[in-house]
Amino acid sequence: MTFEQEIKRRRTFGIISHPDAGKTTLTEKLLLFGGAIQEAGAVKSNKIKKSATSDFMEIERQRGISVATSVLAFIYKDKKINILDTPGHKDFAEDTFRTLTAVDSVIVVIDVAKGVEEQTEKLVEVCRMRNIPMIVFINKLDREGKDAFDLLDEVEQKLGLSVTPLSFPIGMGYDFKGIYNIYEKNINLFSGNSKQNIEETIAFDDVSSSELEKIIGEDAADSLRENLELVDGVYPPFEKEAYLSGDLQPVFFGSALNNFGVRELLDCFIEIAPDPRAKKAEERLVEPNETDFSGFVFKIHANMDPKHRDRLAFVKIVSGKFERNKPYLHVRHDKKLKFSSPNAFFAEKKEIVDTSFPGDIVGLHDTGNFKIGDTLTSGEKLQYRGIPSFSPEHFRYINNADPMKAKQLNKGIDQLMDEGVAQLFTLELNGRKVIGTVGALQYEVIQYRLEHEYGAKCTYENLPVHKACWVEPEADNEEFSEFNRVKQKYLARDKSGQLVFLSDSAFSLQMTQQKYPSVKLRFTSEKD
Ligand code: GDP
Repeated sequence: MTFEQEIKRRRTFGIISHPDAGKTTLTEKLLLFGGAIQEAGAVKSNKIKKSATSDFMEIERQRGISVATSVLAFIYKDKKINILDTPGHKDFAEDTFRTLTAVDSVIVVIDVAKGVEEQTEKLVEVCRMRNIPMIVFINKLDREGKDAFDLLDEVEQKLGLSVTPLSFPIGMGYDFKGIYNIYEKNINLFSGNSKQNIEETIAFDDVSSSELEKIIGEDAADSLRENLELVDGVYPPFEKEAYLSGDLQPVFFGSALNNFGVRELLDCFIEIAPDPRAKKAEERLVEPNETDFSGFVFKIHANMDPKHRDRLAFVKIVSGKFERNKPYLHVRHDKKLKFSSPNAFFAEKKEIVDTSFPGDIVGLHDTGNFKIGDTLTSGEKLQYRGIPSFSPEHFRYINNADPMKAKQLNKGIDQLMDEGVAQLFTLELNGRKVIGTVGALQYEVIQYRLEHEYGAKCTYENLPVHKACWVEPEADNEEFSEFNRVKQKYLARDKSGQLVFLSDSAFSLQMTQQKYPSVKLRFTSEKD
């Protein structure tokens, strides 16, 4: 296969949803189609097995949430599919945001009964801002849920999307008979007892034919015809270009648990979803088919195996081939690094690979060289744009609880921050360290990991901070000097040395902005 063909066959995407909408179940069914796993339940049971051998994952087991983002790859109809799993829990939203910098498209899973939920809104907003192509999968059609048209309205209104259904349910819940596939023009009949088999499909391109009554009965046939007419009248026809530019989102209905509507979703997905897209670096736009390798770190993961305390940096390949044992430039450190055992991901396993292509994710063993957002290249000084840091929601002082282990504590904090677990601010006044997080759960994760991975103990102390604002520019004028003097107590540096203003309330933030108009306060760490 040529380099060009290798790129064209790759589909790298993420599944996003509110917890419990069915993301894990859908992932598992997709893997079944790829023949990557043999039985239903494999993805989940694997998750539990891992937790038993890794104390980091123990937190996940205890909490029943997905702390880690992993990569699952499989081949289907000659396409190499890479699924980047994303934690649905809101305390790990930043993790998911970062993973979204590495996907070329997403599938949004929505529970038919619950409709659009909070986490879905936030994640879809990020995808919308970045014009990521999205397909919507409305799940759990075997249960009673909202009316299909009401749901489509809700998706448009709450998520700000412009949808067009490519399949339509025939009945729902107890009366759920099957799905009409508008895209392929066929009917899939549902039989509730065959949970793991791929259903047979009846080609049906003319719904006005009286054959329809014979298959699904008179009432269902009438209402299907009516519904399809409405779909035709209300929603725009599907256009691939509009989908690819993020202007139109096709919708599928189904039941992941019953493996229903999943094949339709997958078949359409591999046809319309984008192959690896060009990516903007600070310097220029980089095309996947360039010969020189480049990629960026979007995720750093503590090793699952407690015997090996190194970390795995997940690199998305943007251009060129990544080859084992070849020296690549770590742009931030301006230093060449070689990787003797890069991991590729296949289904739920990882294995060492010699060559990877644009769209693929490689896992590189790291002893502390990488942080999120780092770029690796064949030699060119490129810096990919990632997602900037947002102001955390929670702030606490972190104190050393074991004076003998100060070094371990500092190392641990440093590395956990590089992984993007939380943000560290150091107060200008007294050098005290403040940890900022998106969710309260991270404090437990940090404490647990500091103890189990670094042998250090910490305690926290609350700090009444409303928001962290990055100060830009650090102007050399009188107003800035006064701001600096008066607000000294509230000033800190982030990990890269940028000045940050920690305001204690919305009111004081407003007052500060009024009093020092030339001091610009930003709510993210980067311009743009
Ligand atoms: P996640 O949190 O989004 O990964 O959701 P899971 O895949 O873990 O699913 C949450 C729950 O919904 C589990 O108990 C699943 O068995 C169930 N579930 C998933 N898909 C379906 C479906 O199509 N129908 C029904 N009735 N239940 C489903």
